[in-house]
Amino acid sequence: MVTAYLGLGSNLGDRQGNLSQAIERLSRRVRLERVSSLYETEPVGYLAQPRFLNAACRVSTDLSSWELLALAKEIEAVLGRVPGFPNAPRQIDIDILFYGDQVIETPQLTVPHPRLAERAFVLIPLAEIAPELVHPQTGHRIGELVARVAGAKGVQKWKMGAGGPVSIKPEGQT
Ligand code: ADP
Ligand code: MG
Repeated sequence: MVTAYLGLGSNLGDRQGNLSQAIERLSRRVRLERVSSLYETEPVGYLAQPRFLNAACRVSTDLSSWELLALAKEIEAVLGRVPGFPNAPRQIDIDILFYGDQVIETPQLTVPHPRLAERAFVLIPLAEIAPELVHPQTGHRIGELVARVAGAKGVQKWKMGAGGPVSIKPEGQT
């Protein structure tokens, strides 16, 4: 079993519903261990688009990194994502942030995710569930990376109804 971390984002349609469905579909194929809160985040790169909801999760799985990527793409397609340009609005984006401590450097799959250290919308949810996780290439803890990332003001914990995003928490998480 390998422990992997995924980053999820949605800024089209029912954003919470999209995240919730993506996580539910993931949980059918991998062991879902932890899910962060949802954060509402300012778009980065291409600015003229709605705000995102982002989250991070920890899974453990016997799927290879490539199988996990295929699963992520399959779920993106099922949830209606139409291929667009980088940073385009989307119903759902599922990125592999870490796959164990493996380093994979191909265009189709680059792990650790190459832009995670500069993305507050990735690091802030990730730091909530894995502050002690160490980046295998730089040796930095996620807690250190989040302390120095720019743009943290653009990432706000999302106001939920009482009880929070109960529907997307893995069993046993309080
Ligand atoms: P982005 O998430 O950067 O906006 P996309 O989700 O459209 O871009 O992904 C573009 C391509 O990036 C995917 O087809 C996928 O093969 C590739 N890719 C490379 N590394 C990763 C990774 N760690 N997680 C997810 N996709 C990745
Ligand atoms: Mg992606």
